[in-house]
Amino acid sequence: MSEPPVFPLVGSTPVVDLTGLLPDARRGRLLAKCEHLNPTGSIKDRPVRRMLRDLGPAGATHTLVEATGGNTGLSLALMGRALGYRVVLTMSSKMGPEKVRMLRAAGAEVEICPVEAEPGSAEHFIERARRRGRAPGCLYLNQFENASNWRAHHDETGPEIVADVGGRIDSFVCAAGTSGTLTGVARWLRRSSPGTRVVLADPHGSVLAPAVVGRSAVGEPYLAEGIGGDFVPPLFDPSLVDESVVVTDADALRWQRRLVRAGLFVGSSSGVNVAAAADHLSRQPPDDERVVVTLLCDSGDRYVSTWLDDAWTAEHVIDRRTTDTTGGRLCK
Ligand code: PMP
Repeated sequence: MSEPPVFPLVGSTPVVDLTGLLPDARRGRLLAKCEHLNPTGSIKDRPVRRMLRDLGPAGATHTLVEATGGNTGLSLALMGRALGYRVVLTMSSKMGPEKVRMLRAAGAEVEICPVEAEPGSAEHFIERARRRGRAPGCLYLNQFENASNWRAHHDETGPEIVADVGGRIDSFVCAAGTSGTLTGVARWLRRSSPGTRVVLADPHGSVLAPAVVGRSAVGEPYLAEGIGGDFVPPLFDPSLVDESVVVTDADALRWQRRLVRAGLFVGSSSGVNVAAAADHLSRQPPDDERVVVTLLCDSGDRYVSTWLDDAWTAEHVIDRRTTDTTGGRLCK
């Protein structure tokens, strides 16, 4: 089958200058790549297109199975079905209702798994997908281990960022879910821009920032969606990370709302990325002219009854600042 018409729309996203939103612009420039403007509204269009291309001919496979925070699922529901596959998705009950409705509207079958399920247990969303994928004619894509995931960012997102900025990139700030973005872009930068400092933006409660400094932590609940986690994903490579900034939900929310007020309708992980990038910049010497690049990962359309709803945030988001948390900043 020829490639679906949506494929060429993926990538080549614009870069927006957020320096004007910073409290102190003397410390450098903050640029963000608008991945929320991909055709299905998130950065996950890139790895999904790549995983589908790398699959080759369907053969006996009629159903693609994936465990998702929602964004991979939406890409797969639209692009996988355009290639003729049935799409079955498993998701944690933590994800907001818009995501589930969008996935079903896009034609996917969705199974919701309890957020409390331990990683590796039969009820956990990843384990559920693994088991579903064993049925005849089914294939579990496994974005958490699939090398096409990080390769999409190594071959496409990384080179685009370097070309977009067209000069020095001092720091790259990036949250990690599967870690495909961080690993792929950081590996590209290590080759093409070896002086760039790679900064992990991690939600407070995730085990990834502790893993960078060799600490195994027990995950705590947090609300930012699609990033961080209660386990270290196989694609996460701590040796690529120079520094971590741990961001509370409250600071992510403050930055997400600032972005929306500035006309950028983005989701919770964009708030985490920009909060971390702003924090990183605030600790650089004044007049350093540092160029910091981060990503706006997904569209706000999937958060209108959660992160973008005042009643919901008043009830759920605990007001504490990134710098108030014990060990809030972890530096290598
Ligand atoms: N932001 C959001 C909202 C996501 O859904 C994801 C993917 N889980 C990411 C960021 C991070 O992407 P990656 O899987 O490449 O680490």
